[in-house]
Amino acid sequence: MNFIVQLSYLLAAILFIVGLKAMSSPKTARKGIIWAGVGMVLATLVTFLHPAVHGVTNYVLIVIGIAVAGVLAWWSGRRVAMTEMPQMVALYNGMGGGAAAAIAGVEMLRALRTLPGDLQNQAQALAADAGISVNAATAALRADGAGSAGVAGALGTDVAILAILGALIGTVAFSGSLVAWAKLDGRMKRNRLVPAQQLVNIVVFALAIIFGIMTFFTDSLAVVAIFFALGLLFGVFVAVPIGGADMPVIISLFNALTGLAVAFEGYAIGNPAMIIAGTVVGAAGTLLTQLMAKAMNRPITNVLFAGWGAEEGATSEGPEGEMKDVSAEDAGIMMAYAERVIIVPGYGMAVAQAQHKIWELVELLQDRGVEVKFAIHPVAGRMPGHMNVLLAEAGVPYDMIFDMEDINEEFATTDVAVVIGANDVVNPAARDDPSSPIYGMPILNVDEAENVLVIKRGRGTGFSGVENALFFGENTRMVFGDGQKVAGGMVQAVKGL
Ligand code: NDP
Repeated sequence: MNFIVQLSYLLAAILFIVGLKAMSSPKTARKGIIWAGVGMVLATLVTFLHPAVHGVTNYVLIVIGIAVAGVLAWWSGRRVAMTEMPQMVALYNGMGGGAAAAIAGVEMLRALRTLPGDLQNQAQALAADAGISVNAATAALRADGAGSAGVAGALGTDVAILAILGALIGTVAFSGSLVAWAKLDGRMKRNRLVPAQQLVNIVVFALAIIFGIMTFFTDSLAVVAIFFALGLLFGVFVAVPIGGADMPVIISLFNALTGLAVAFEGYAIGNPAMIIAGTVVGAAGTLLTQLMAKAMNRPITNVLFAGWGAEEGATSEGPEGEMKDVSAEDAGIMMAYAERVIIVPGYGMAVAQAQHKIWELVELLQDRGVEVKFAIHPVAGRMPGHMNVLLAEAGVPYDMIFDMEDINEEFATTDVAVVIGANDVVNPAARDDPSSPIYGMPILNVDEAENVLVIKRGRGTGFSGVENALFFGENTRMVFGDGQKVAGGMVQAVKGL
């Protein structure tokens, strides 16, 4: 039986890896999700046959738990709007971290309640002699100090270290991801919870490490509970002050941490599928974090401990001048007579679901001989790859989509740059204004184009809450309105020529 279990875990692990590889291209991503899902179902089902599970008596509870969670996930997955996907990803990521921490909690509690092998016989003998239960005898022996060696005493040093580390990382990823969810959902603003937040963060982190080490040696349940509470608190304290441009970095970091926590707990309970799946997620998340940090020009340590930029609301002086607007029709005609056009999509395109209309417009422009390209900023939208997914869904060929570093120089020789629902990623303050909260974040140099058209509904700021001087530029024309409606107006104008 054990052979079948191990073989199934290996198969599940292969499915995870092949699935993840397929997810790296929009063409094969759908298949990748299905393969990884099949791997997950296999790993879950085969765990019921795992030898370590023998003796488990609460199967009914487990099956009810799986059924309730499965129905909830299916229901929420079906009804979630495309614009709410980032929140959902943050929530699910947090659940992964929480599950890893829960496994650690159970293992640590079990360790504190059981005795090392040789003493178990002693407990059984005592139970028989005194006519008490084995549990009561174990407790009595423990009270006398027998086998009292904290979590490490029962689990063994290596397993205890990984279980405790996994617990800390999992709790941080859990509570931090919940805060990220609240922020992405607009329920929470960037803020400091306490004065000198960064200093407090360092103290809380240090205390969590100290209590983690203490659980290693002591048998106190209170120490374990405080250790978990400190982990949860650190996750909240790290995520709450994160503002505007740092969110993508912290979200991918929590993703990497969840993977790591799952891998550690997989080792602690001897589950190879968890070790491999966790390592794959941890590695992918770490690469993503590095990419995001590079894109935002922030070292991770700065994001976690130093903080950067200004406080919420402490934006640099607002831009001077007036916004000049044009109608969607005039903007469409301007594009139709251009030679080179670059389209920059942002979060607003996702809100408006304007990608299909934009692609219709692009096809019309191409028919007229206009060269059109798409420029994607790495943190445009609300999740990594957000814009790529939307454009792929609309059928935009991949060779028309360019990353920031590959296209940024081309704006200077472009007739019309069209910004649809993007704001922070094209804000020149990030490049030119050292007092700006988003200063230092690389941006798409849209303002260098000969003409800039900005499609947005009104004067609203972007995720970071920072005003954008681009909208007041001499060469900028605002096309006010919902992204889809404006794109529709442009299509009509070009068709009418
Ligand atoms: P922004 O959030 O900066 O701006 C979006 C703009 O879209 C707003 O100014 C809004 O203006 C406009 N908009 C909203 N709805 C519509 C609509 N229906 N039609 C037309 N326009 C609309 O988006 P960006 O993509 O430029 O930047 C992403 C931001 O999100 C960055 O700050 C990034 O750090 C952050 N972030 C990114 C994550 C990621 O992984 N990619 C994760 C978390 C945060 P108005 O209201 O006037 O219409």
